[in-house]
Amino acid sequence: MTSEQLLSLLSETWTSWSELCRVTKTPQAELARALRELQVQGFPVMVEEPGARLAPGTPAPQILLPLLRGKLGRSYRYLGTVPSTQDVLRAWSEAPAGALVLAERQTKGRGRMGRVWESPPGNLYFSLFLGEDVDDLLPLRVGVALVEATQVGYLKWPNDLLAPDGRKLGGILVERVGTRVFLGVGVNVEIAPLPTAAALREFRSVQRATLLADFLWSLESWLSEKRSVVFAAWKKHSITLGRRVVIQTARERIEGLALDLGLNGELLVSTQRGLRRVTTGDVELGAAQDVEDPQIGQGQA
Ligand code: ATP
Repeated sequence: MTSEQLLSLLSETWTSWSELCRVTKTPQAELARALRELQVQGFPVMVEEPGARLAPGTPAPQILLPLLRGKLGRSYRYLGTVPSTQDVLRAWSEAPAGALVLAERQTKGRGRMGRVWESPPGNLYFSLFLGEDVDDLLPLRVGVALVEATQVGYLKWPNDLLAPDGRKLGGILVERVGTRVFLGVGVNVEIAPLPTAAALREFRSVQRATLLADFLWSLESWLSEKRSVVFAAWKKHSITLGRRVVIQTARERIEGLALDLGLNGELLVSTQRGLRRVTTGDVELGAAQDVEDPQIGQGQA
């Protein structure tokens, strides 16, 4: 019996040793070894006197798939410890659109520009293959789906979900390889691995499988939503617009007031030198300010 088969027999409630032995036709000592091996591979398997079970809310296929309501995630690879779910998905050459890879832990999780995404056990780390038919508003669409699913926090342009106090709850990574689009998402559900990070558990109790299913269902509708509706929803959840910002781009530092989003999802910033359209950069948020700013309309960079 493979470890995948053994994993598929477990549920969120205890399965007794006698039942496991009977179903697998395997002696208890051998099963105990195989279950320990699953733990070593990074799966949240609990092995105790009554028998074995998965930690409640574990997004194993037998728990996640019945919760799915749409097409996303139907092709699913559930993994223990991997370097990066983005890399596993990119190497999955037959992955159909909507394919999902999720890992319990990443040793080389990444954010934008090769930055590290800390990925200890207890959180959600997954990648979704979105095929080729994806527009430039994807990060906004994903952000709205994420904040709807978590029901906590605000969106920081371009790719973060922040807790109400400004700590980071989740991140979105969009990678394009040729015309193929790979979406990576990390959400701190149980563990905040940095002082600047927050965990959803601090605000709301939710099981990971439920949260993931809610997100996939929400994303499916936001992916086909009209652009004007996406803009309106993103702005409703934004913590960026109407704030002073300092943005570090590859070339320069831009300081001003974040006014609005442009037609392609870029950030419109009112600066002393006029209106700037920022397509990417690191954003530091400052104080809130009235957006009726005298700089509006003074030209574009
Ligand atoms: P910043 O948040 O500094 O503006 P960014 O939005 O570009 O940067 P990402 O590329 O999305 O950041 O994510 C990487 C950064 O997020 C890391 O440099 C680190 O500061 C922070 N980080 C890493 N892991 C986590 C995590 N699990 N939770 C919250 N923040 C994290």
